[in-house]
Amino acid sequence: MSVAEIPHRKLAPGKLVIASHNAGKVREIRELLSPYGIEPVSAATLGLPEPEETGVTFIANAELKARAAADLSGLPALADDSGLCVDALRGDPGIFSARWAGKDKDFGLAMRLVNQHVEEAGPDAGRDAHFVCALSLCWPDGHIESFEGRVDGTLVWPPRGDQGFGYDPMFQPYGHDITFGEMDPAAKHAMSHRADAFAKLVAAVFP
Ligand code: IMP
Repeated sequence: MSVAEIPHRKLAPGKLVIASHNAGKVREIRELLSPYGIEPVSAATLGLPEPEETGVTFIANAELKARAAADLSGLPALADDSGLCVDALRGDPGIFSARWAGKDKDFGLAMRLVNQHVEEAGPDAGRDAHFVCALSLCWPDGHIESFEGRVDGTLVWPPRGDQGFGYDPMFQPYGHDITFGEMDPAAKHAMSHRADAFAKLVAAVFP
């Protein structure tokens, strides 16, 4: 059997730790999981620590967060590592998207920094960007399944809308004239990087 043919492990109904301390992500993942008979428990509710994100890719960071939560809780754990990748900034802030907001998690500041760097890159650099989401599901025995999704769009300035979280108010997906920050959550869920990764996970691990 080739690697591509190895079947994915199925996730049985029951408790699943959402290995994130980001309230916006936990809310979106809960909503995405709601049709599947899963009982989500957040890492914060269980008092799990946030591991240091030492990976150099989205998947590496998602895997280390899922593994830490599964080890400590004895339950299957789902982690998300995601971020905004800007073409003009050669993919930055990328895996450092949360860190650009500083320890106060000030995304107004992070968005200003992104916009400032894009302007410094000059008019030819363009404003294309994409969000990436890596989702990793780890079982207490160490088995892990990972999936990656993305959504492409353009950066707007000034930011618009107060829905969503993080960089949503400055990201306008291609084919739309409103930002994720102005979009109804259900509409974002139908097209986001997280929804794309989630669709792959659902196809692979839900019986
Ligand atoms: P991390 O995955 O915890 O390292 O954090 C990723 C950061 O990327 C978040 O804190 C957000 O700032 C940003 N991000 C990830 N997904 C989204 C999204 O759906 N909308 C807006 N910002 C996002």
